[in-house]
Amino acid sequence: MITDDCINCDVCEPECPNEAITQGAEIYEINPNKCTECVGHYDTPQCREVCPVDCIPVHPQYLEDKNQLMLKYQGLMAQKKGVPAS
Ligand code: SF4
Ligand code: SF4
Repeated sequence: MITDDCINCDVCEPECPNEAITQGAEIYEINPNKCTECVGHYDTPQCREVCPVDCIPVHPQYLEDKNQLMLKYQGLMAQKKGVPAS
């Protein structure tokens, strides 16, 4: 999740391999259904690496272990494959 310490610096959004980060009404937001904490893509959460104000903690309602995150990653990849190339 992104807290209201976010300064809208825009650097995290392009780093997300799952396109889970979008600009919300006030600050950037993470779609928890798309966030795998970068499992499947990278060893560490890329948004957290780049955020200059360290405002991206794990959402307390989405405490997922590596296996759950990997299953989510696989689901997201299967969804992607199902979308015809445009
Ligand atoms: S942890 Fe990774 S997947 Fe989750 S929002 Fe950040 S960059 Fe995207
Ligand atoms: S990197 Fe941090 S401060 Fe910058 S937009 Fe993302 S969450 Fe906000």
